Amino acid sequence: MRQFNIVLAGLGALAAAALAATTQSHAAGTGAADKMYVIDCGWAHAADKSRWSPGIDVGVQVDVSDNCFLIHHPQGGWFMWDTGVAENIADMPDGLSQQNGAVVWHKAKKLSAALAEIKVKPEDVKFVAISHMHADHSSNVDMFPKATLLIQKPEWDAIFAGQNPPFTKEHPATQLTGDKDVFGDGSVTIVSTPGHTPGHQSLLVHLAKTGWLVLSGDAVHFQSNWDNKRVPGTNFDKDKTVASMNHLGELIAAHKAQLWINHDKAQSDKLKHAPAFYE
Ligand SMILES: [Zn+2]
Repeated sequence: MRQFNIVLAGLGALAAAALAATTQSHAAGTGAADKMYVIDCGWAHAADKSRWSPGIDVGVQVDVSDNCFLIHHPQGGWFMWDTGVAENIADMPDGLSQQNGAVVWHKAKKLSAALAEIKVKPEDVKFVAISHMHADHSSNVDMFPKATLLIQKPEWDAIFAGQNPPFTKEHPATQLTGDKDVFGDGSVTIVSTPGHTPGHQSLLVHLAKTGWLVLSGDAVHFQSNWDNKRVPGTNFDKDKTVASMNHLGELIAAHKAQLWINHDKAQSDKLKHAPAFYE
C-alpha cells in the first residue's frame, strides 16, 4: 500500500509537472507588449531605385522612410528597435549627401526631441537592438548608455573589424548567436536574418491589441522587392538574404503577422507615428 501511494504520489507529481510545463509553454507564446511608438528617424531621396533591385527600376527616383520603434513591455520596460540616422542631420537644411548625391538623408526631428515629446528618458530604455550596422539604423545607440545592446555576434565582429564603428565598444552589449526571446514570453523576439549584412536581424512583435508584426529592418527594402524576392546588389550574401526572406515569410504565415518594411515610404506613410502609438 505504501509503495502504491508512493507510485501515486509520483504520478501526481509528474502530472503536476506536465501541467506546469504546458502552462509555461502556453504563456511563453502569448505574452504581449502593451505600447509601441513608430518614430520618424529620418528619410532619404535616392536617385536610382535599382541600387536595391538590380536591373529593375533603373534611373527611377525614390524616397525612402527610416523608422525607429520604441516598444513597451508591461514588466520588462522599454525596448528600442533601430536608432535611425545621426541627430546632426536634422541641423542640415540640404540634408547629408552620400556618394555624390546618390542618396541624400534628411531628418525632420531629432530622436532626442521625439523621445522628450512622449516623456521617455533615454535612461529608461532597458534594451536597444539594431537590425544591422548601417548608419541609418545604428547612429544613436550611444544615446542609450544604460541600455543593453542586443546584437548578433557576426555583426559586432564586422563593426569592430571596420572603420568608424557607430557606437563605442564599451557600450553594454549581449552578443547573440541566433534568435532571442527578449522578455521570455514571446512578446518581442529577435530573429536572426543574415544576408543584407553578416549579422542582420529582424523583430517579431506581439502587441496586445494590434496583433503580430514583423519589423524587417533591411531584410527587404520595398514591398515590390518582397513580392519578387529581389536582393540588392550590395548585400553581403544573396543566398542568405533569400533564405532569410523565406524564413520571415514562414513566421508571418504562422502568426498571421503584418510585415512592416522599414524603408518602404508608401507603407510608412500609412502608419501612425509618434506621439501617436499602437497598443
Ligand atoms: Zn537601411
